[in-house]
Amino acid sequence: MLRLYSLNLNLNPMQLVCPECKNKVNLAIYPNLAKDQVIECDICGISLLVSSISGDKVEAEVVDEGK
Ligand SMILES: [Zn+2]
Repeated sequence: MLRLYSLNLNLNPMQLVCPECKNKVNLAIYPNLAKDQVIECDICGISLLVSSISGDKVEAEVVDEGK
């Protein structure tokens, strides 16, 4: 198991793993991230609805755009 760490001390400490592509979503561009906010995975581009924020742990679910 490869573990990667990055120095991002000045960035948003909250972390979200994309449920679709399993990559870490860049939350630094959402400084006021809130529950029920729709964000976009910068890796796979899917829309995600923030379902819970607990400390620095963020959970989100894939938004079904119904197309
Ligand atoms: Zn993704």
